[in-house]
Amino acid sequence: MRSRQRLRQVITPHINRISHRTSLKVSSIRYFCDNHNHPPKPSNTRIRDSTFLLESNKIWSEGMMHSDPGFFESMSSVQTPRFLWIGCADSRVATDSITKTRPGEIFVHRNIANLCVHTDLNMLSVLQYGVEVLKIPDVIVCGHYGCGGVAAAMTNDQYGIVDNWLRNIKDVYRFHKEELNSISDKHKRFDRLVELNVREQVFNVCKTSIVQNAWAKGQKVSVHGWVYSLNNGRLKDLKTTISSCEETPLIVSKEMEYRK
Ligand SMILES: [Zn+2]
Repeated sequence: MRSRQRLRQVITPHINRISHRTSLKVSSIRYFCDNHNHPPKPSNTRIRDSTFLLESNKIWSEGMMHSDPGFFESMSSVQTPRFLWIGCADSRVATDSITKTRPGEIFVHRNIANLCVHTDLNMLSVLQYGVEVLKIPDVIVCGHYGCGGVAAAMTNDQYGIVDNWLRNIKDVYRFHKEELNSISDKHKRFDRLVELNVREQVFNVCKTSIVQNAWAKGQKVSVHGWVYSLNNGRLKDLKTTISSCEETPLIVSKEMEYRK
C-alpha cells in the first residue's frame, strides 16, 4: 500500500500535465497508475498529437520502475520470448494488450492480413531468428474478423501497390471457392475467409525450410492458428496446430485433395 502511495506521488505531476494537454480525465489516468495497465478511455477521448505518446511513456516508465525495480535491467540484457506472433498490422489488434503480456514475452511480426509469403524476406528473417536463434517453441498466426485486407481482397477494387500483396488472399479464396461460394450470407463468408486465410498461413509457416529443418533436427516447434474478434476481444483457436514433419504431409495432402 505504501509503495502505491509513493507511486502516486511520483507520477502525479505527469498525470496533471497529460490531463491538461489532452482530453483524458484524471480519474482515467489514475486507473493506469493503480493497475499498471491501459486506462479505459471515454468514447469521446481523442489522442491529440504525438506528445500524448511521449507523456504516456513517462508514466509507464515511472510506473514500471516502482512496481518492478529490476524490470529494465532484465530487459536490457537479453530477450527470451516464449512466443512468435505473426499478426495483422491493424491498430485494433495490439498483441501485448489483447494477450495481457509484458515486453519481452512475445516476438512480433505484423503485416497487412497476417500473411506468410515465402518470398517475403522480412517475415522469413523474423521466423528464422525466432526459431533458430531464440529457439521459440510456439509460433502463432493470428488473423481477425473484420480484417480490412481480407475484405479488400474480396472485391475487384484497386488500392495500389497493396493489391499485389492482397493477391495472396485472392489465391486463398480460389483454393476454397467451392466452400466460400456456398455461404450465402456475405458476413459469414467474410468471416470464413478470415479463418481459411489463417489456416493457409499456418501451412505456409510449416512449409518453410526454417520450420522443416527445425523439426528435422528434433527441435520442438508448434504452429498455431488463431482469430481475434474485434466485437468481444476474444481469441479463437482454430485447432489447426501443427507440431511435426509427420503432421504436415497429412494436412498438405488433405489440402491438395480439397483443392481439386
Ligand atoms: Zn487485418
